[in-house]
Amino acid sequence: MLTGRRLRIRFSGGGFYNGAVLERLARRNYFRDEGQIDHMRVSKSVIGELEQEAVRQVLERGFLGTGTETQAFERELAAYIGGEVQVVCTNTGTAALQLALQACDIGAGDEVLTPSLTFVATFQAISATGATPVACEVQESTGLLDLEDAQRRITARTKAIMPVHYASAMGDLDAVYDFGETHALRVVEDAAHAFGCTYKERRIGSFSEVSCFSFDGIKNITSGEGGAIVSHNPEIIRRIQDARLLGVEKDTEKRYQRQRSWDFDVIEQGWRYHMSDIMAAIGRVQLRRFEPEFRPRRVALARAYRESLSSLPDVRFFEAEIGAVVPHIQPVRILEGKRDRVRQALLDDGIETGIHYKPNHLLSKYGGGKVSLPVTERLYSEILTLPLHPDLSGEDVETVVDVVKRAL
Ligand SMILES: *Cc1c(COP(=O)(O)O)cnc(C)c1O
Repeated sequence: MLTGRRLRIRFSGGGFYNGAVLERLARRNYFRDEGQIDHMRVSKSVIGELEQEAVRQVLERGFLGTGTETQAFERELAAYIGGEVQVVCTNTGTAALQLALQACDIGAGDEVLTPSLTFVATFQAISATGATPVACEVQESTGLLDLEDAQRRITARTKAIMPVHYASAMGDLDAVYDFGETHALRVVEDAAHAFGCTYKERRIGSFSEVSCFSFDGIKNITSGEGGAIVSHNPEIIRRIQDARLLGVEKDTEKRYQRQRSWDFDVIEQGWRYHMSDIMAAIGRVQLRRFEPEFRPRRVALARAYRESLSSLPDVRFFEAEIGAVVPHIQPVRILEGKRDRVRQALLDDGIETGIHYKPNHLLSKYGGGKVSLPVTERLYSEILTLPLHPDLSGEDVETVVDVVKRAL
């Protein structure tokens, strides 16, 4: 066991552990193999033998493209979400967002209102359609789109609004839909964080015109990489089914019968954005594990963080109804300029953290800070994402909490 006082080991988060820290880590069983430190990860894929077996079966069948496994995943997702929706799976969540916008006739010359505080995927999906993402402020208390600010940014070109369910919370989603109706804007939900969450007792995706999920490696469920569009609108579903397979009309139906289209027509721009059956096989297992395993674990860990840290004067949580909200990430705000100190203390103890997200209006492609969004920019200096994934234990949360308390 590596507990020598003079030993220093570089680890993947950058930086070094010294002897004292190594001893603490050793007590916590963070050594997996000799010389290898398993530091506490901020997010993580949780996959096991069931997923491996499911992939093996697809490989044995020898059909790897989009086929019956993808079709089954789509049906199971639709049944889980409820509300008689249809689902189309894609190779990434980003592709899902792009196709959803395209199916809502959003494209070159159009503007889409969206919060700046989001993963760059939201912005890239919008600009991939030829439209311009218009960075809006978020509310300080929730980290979600500020509709008053969004209203001020409406122009004659504004065609859609894309709310982002940051840290899986939706805030007042009814108000977003009212806003869309008032200003005649399409609403496309970036629900990448919000798989399995409910709003007013209804699952996200079950009541909206079009919502998009991500199943990348660290989301609430994963298919390795992947995404899905959920809609009630058969015309949107049809257009997305075609667009994800190079615009080849009705190719989805053919492929689900293990056939190909040889004589076909193409009427709009399409892409190679379909999901492969290998990915769908992983996703189907993850969907079965979500309610019994992942949901309760994520909810319990998020509640434990709130219980232990919310009394600290320099720590703030974003408002969210944990339970209905199944958090994909656990951001907190650390006030009074103390964020980096806390971050360093956690890193020194082998605990990885994140910063979700660098605001998009600061990125060169999206204006490089030409507009100023003071609330978003202040939050960016305060936010710190603490570890949250289903492989974490209550004890792990206590460890994180202790280090945060000590650092403050
Ligand atoms: C993950 C994510 C996406 C994109 O999903 P990918 O599957 O990674 O392409 C979009 N928006 C947000 C907010 C995300 O976190």
